[in-house]
Amino acid sequence: MLSVKGFAAQNETNPLSPYSFERKEPGEHDVLIDILYCGVCHSDIHQVRNEWGGSIYPMVPGHEIVGKISKIGSNVTGFKVGDLAGVGCFVDSCRTCENCKNDLEQYCEKGMVGTYNGRYADGTPTYGGYSGQIAVDEKYTLHISEKLPLEKVAPLLCAGITTYSPLREWKVGKGHKVGILGLGGLGHMAVKLAASMGAEVTMLSTSPSKREDATRLGAHKFALTSDVEGMKEYMNYFDFIIDTVSAPHDINFYLQLLHTDGTLILLGVPPESPKLEIFNLIMKRRRVAGSLIGGIKETQEMLDYCAEHNITSDVEVIPIQDINTAYERMLKGDVRYRFVIDMASL
Ligand code: NAP
Ligand code: ZN
Ligand code: ZN
Repeated sequence: MLSVKGFAAQNETNPLSPYSFERKEPGEHDVLIDILYCGVCHSDIHQVRNEWGGSIYPMVPGHEIVGKISKIGSNVTGFKVGDLAGVGCFVDSCRTCENCKNDLEQYCEKGMVGTYNGRYADGTPTYGGYSGQIAVDEKYTLHISEKLPLEKVAPLLCAGITTYSPLREWKVGKGHKVGILGLGGLGHMAVKLAASMGAEVTMLSTSPSKREDATRLGAHKFALTSDVEGMKEYMNYFDFIIDTVSAPHDINFYLQLLHTDGTLILLGVPPESPKLEIFNLIMKRRRVAGSLIGGIKETQEMLDYCAEHNITSDVEVIPIQDINTAYERMLKGDVRYRFVIDMASL
């Protein structure tokens, strides 16, 4: 086994603290990655605090991992020692079901193996990127461009792909009016990506202080969702709304902002699911959809797209010792726009 240092949650209430643990040695198909940066996703908080149920402790969170390969297994063909590499939200899947065969491993019929808070096929728990090293099968490892600043690339592994995938699935582009609900980690990537694809982007936010940033990130319009008068101009307006909100909120209000045949795409996973007012759908043939991260092939496509278009995340780099404060700030919506842990601080 490989001895690794990291930060872990020991249960759902205590703060994260230093933790030394053992993880699997790199096998013949694995690369060993020395982790340089790891992004902090709101899903880390939901899982650390067991807001979705079933959390496994001790939990070493982190699924926005970038680093450098320090060792490769004897059968690895796509990577060499010294290459940059990335790992996102899962490290394995069954590889044989329809979804796995169609590059949709995130929807694996037997369940993907989460990068943390999951279990490998043999039952041993997975530990994530708030740590020094990780061994991952090369099939589930991403190539990272040398062109972009690494700390700004880390969040692409979850926030980037989670917003890129639905934009591609629904072929969002020129002529579409897109609302992005919630300007945090996912939201700011959604703004950048949707704008780069040619859509008219409106930021829908609860934070007046984020207005200027929204424009800088590429949004064409900004709407303060608490401004009852101001919101009237957006009734029946959008073709798509991408909902990235992490806390309970009334989706029925946002459904009314959709045009006929408009689609509300749910990405955020608040601890409690919202109540749906069916009239908001049937009166305008509107739809509600959901989307989960993206498959390995599409994640690589997104990373290559971002390298080509010079798209990265806006980050605040923190030492790992500040992780608990970062969580508190995210819970207050005070993130601009992704915390990224510099693993040199470990
Ligand atoms: P984040 O950085 O904390 O951003 C969430 C944003 O939501 C906040 O910045 C805030 O934006 C808004 N918000 C927060 N509380 C609100 C409230 N009570 N009412 C209205 N708006 C509120 O979180 P994140 O990392 O982007 O993650 C967002 C959600 O997506 C989480 O639930 C996470 O688990 C989920 N997620 C899903 C997937 C997937 O595959 N579907 C992948 C990753 C994450 P404003 O200040 O602009 O209002
Ligand atoms: Zn995430
Ligand atoms: Zn599968």
